[in-house]
Amino acid sequence: MSRLETRAIHAGASHSAVGDPVLNILSPATSFYSHPDAVGFSANDLGDQAPYFYTRWSNPTTDLLAERLAALEGGEAGLTFSSGMAAISSLFLNRLRCGDHVIVSNVCYAGVAELARDILPKYGIRSTAVDTSDLAAIEAALRPETRLIHIETPANPILKLSDIAAIAALAHANGVECSVDSTMATPVATTPLALGADFVVHSLTKYIGGHSDALGGAIIGRKADLDAIQKEGLIHFGATLNPFAAWLILRGMETLPLRMKAHEANAGAVAAFLAAHPRVEQTYWPGLASHPQHELARRQMRNFSGMVSFSAKNGAALARQLAERVEVFSYAVSLGKTRSLLCYVPSDDIIRSSFGLEGRDAENYRAWTGDGTFRLSVGLEAPEDLIADLERALD
Ligand SMILES: *Cc1c(COP(=O)(O)O)cnc(C)c1O
Repeated sequence: MSRLETRAIHAGASHSAVGDPVLNILSPATSFYSHPDAVGFSANDLGDQAPYFYTRWSNPTTDLLAERLAALEGGEAGLTFSSGMAAISSLFLNRLRCGDHVIVSNVCYAGVAELARDILPKYGIRSTAVDTSDLAAIEAALRPETRLIHIETPANPILKLSDIAAIAALAHANGVECSVDSTMATPVATTPLALGADFVVHSLTKYIGGHSDALGGAIIGRKADLDAIQKEGLIHFGATLNPFAAWLILRGMETLPLRMKAHEANAGAVAAFLAAHPRVEQTYWPGLASHPQHELARRQMRNFSGMVSFSAKNGAALARQLAERVEVFSYAVSLGKTRSLLCYVPSDDIIRSSFGLEGRDAENYRAWTGDGTFRLSVGLEAPEDLIADLERALD
């Protein structure tokens, strides 16, 4: 099964026998399994061939989702979590220990920026927030105790890109691991493991689930690493994905390749409209030739995804106007849904709060965004309706 569209529907399923249901396995109401060979009570006794036993450890539905994700990302194994943040915090707490240092993108999902800056130090883990679109800045931030470089590309909310292959090579040359949050790209656009990353993480809540009806997260990587993360993150921290949510995400994932094609086409149309609009200062979409990293986008992304951002004068007032006037778009956070969403992120607020940027980093952020960023998650509605909605609301 070499093609993504086929893997998104078939990978991991084992419906070989005649009469077997040709469906995703659903085991929603099962927290435990009885088994004559019940394993011991310690996670340390958990072998490769252990039967299903207790859903916090493993479950057929979450296993199927993990296997299918691994097939889409071209990874040895996958693990699912209750949310994207559960996946990322489990990754950090497994790969890092007291005394270690981690480098994170200085523009990324706010929860990850705050986890690295405010919470990891409680466990003796230091972090440095770096502009990971700048390889020299990453190199300068490396320390003897650096263990992990965590990047997000495209990065929330401004759609700045990081060069996965170059960063993974720099990491490995220094004995450091590299993890990539690929939530905005999805495996339709980018497969970070093939570019050298050690781990790829996702919020399944976004494009992969795609229908705003379930939270979930995942890590894909080498099996031996994921076995260790499973023991900690799932069995001991308990960040397990609810099997019913896994089933909803599996159902959503079957149409991921199709949806991403439509998201990309709609985002391209919306980005072209915004780029030509007199009230708009800058428009960012990796597929636009005017994106400062368009060349990297073409190298690294097979699909430019459905996220568009733009800046405008008097952003805060315009945000209020758009929130009151849009009818097809919803003024809301989150992303990757069937329906179109838009929200405004004032630069001063996020520079001070979530990102804590200072000096040159704050200047660079402001140079990219101006007063603030309008972040659009362009959905699957007719592009004419989306453009007409924005045109009316911007007027
Ligand atoms: C939403 C998101 C997360 C967090 O995922 P949750 O499922 O909300 O916990 C992490 N990274 C990115 C890029 C996201 O968009």
